[in-house]
Amino acid sequence: MDLFEYQGKQYFARWEISVSPGGVADTVEEAVTQADRAGYPVVVKAQVQVGGRGKAGGIKLANNADEARHHAGNILGMDIKGHRVNRVWVEHASDIKHEYYASFTLDRAARLHLGMVSAKGGVEIEQVAEEDPSAIARLHIDPVQGLTEADARTLVEDAGLHEEARGGAVETLMKLYRCFVEGDADLVEINPLILTPEGQVHALDAKVSLDNNAMFRHPEWAEYAATEVLDERETLARSKGLQYIGLAGSVGIIANGAGLAMSTLDVVNQAGGQPANFLDVGGGASAEVMTNALEVINSDPNVRAIFINIFGGITRGEEVANGIVEALTRVQINSPIVIRIDGTNAEQGRAILKEHESDRLMSRPTMLDAARTVVELAARGARSA
Ligand code: GDP
Ligand code: MN
Repeated sequence: MDLFEYQGKQYFARWEISVSPGGVADTVEEAVTQADRAGYPVVVKAQVQVGGRGKAGGIKLANNADEARHHAGNILGMDIKGHRVNRVWVEHASDIKHEYYASFTLDRAARLHLGMVSAKGGVEIEQVAEEDPSAIARLHIDPVQGLTEADARTLVEDAGLHEEARGGAVETLMKLYRCFVEGDADLVEINPLILTPEGQVHALDAKVSLDNNAMFRHPEWAEYAATEVLDERETLARSKGLQYIGLAGSVGIIANGAGLAMSTLDVVNQAGGQPANFLDVGGGASAEVMTNALEVINSDPNVRAIFINIFGGITRGEEVANGIVEALTRVQINSPIVIRIDGTNAEQGRAILKEHESDRLMSRPTMLDAARTVVELAARGARSA
């Protein structure tokens, strides 16, 4: 789960990382109130989960209430790279002497934490990595041992941060690493991390991505979940209580059980196709659940064919088949469907499907057969209505 900048800064503040005082606002008048409170000059910052807001006109300096009102009026409602600005963060403006970059993330391939620091902050790190990779100091950290102060100092020195910033930067890195670990984040990034003319090291931006697997021990994350940005398909799926993750392919997938859903993605890949989603309907495959699942898949304009993969356990094959047939009378489906039913009473289930078989609805005995058929149908790309 990705946080907005203002939430990331509030998170940072829990580990005493230096951030500017400020507040959020959803309206122009609230923005002016927050600006008055933060003290002028202030920066008015668009809250969208995309980088490069400054260049897009989403970050403006205001010296008084009139300017704050003017900028908030322009920024609220603005579209930045397809993200609508519904909220601004207004904070007391900082003086900048130098801009740096600092982050901690998980290097899954290396099974280690990865710290990165650069003296080239304020620009997208991907750009620095491309143009001048040697400007980024990297250090792998054993998660069991954690980051030592000597490690942090090595990073800061390798990155070539200015002498006067080094003490503050080491201190910030130690706090940021604790925030990363204790805060159960997958990514914490400060860009820019600044040195002020007074010699303070301070976070001007915050990017935090939380590890959803740790949700159970963070009841306070509920407020972040409430503002989480989901795509349209995910919003619809969530409203129907389905375990759904949107992907970019053309084969819609419905399966019961997370393990089977994962295997279904694999077998579609193996057959040369690209899954459009992960969707686990759970234990039951009633008409109600199937209808909901098909509605979500059907709303995805990239879907060209649908693969329903059900293994009957407590839910018997004929119940599943009846549920699917019933669901198809309720939803007008745009793409052909391939079904594989196995497990308890699979034979009875297949017999029911056979009565409804057509070139829009077919049943296959094995996962691989079904995957090959559905991938071929998706490649043909027929989509009615
Ligand atoms: P991003 O472009 O979306 O990553 O937004 P940032 O929060 O990183 O801000 C972009 C740039 O705006 C920074 O690199 C700074 O140069 C500038 N900026 C942001 N806040 C301040 C501030 O308080 N004072 C000054 N002088 N510049 C700021
Ligand atoms: Mn930034």
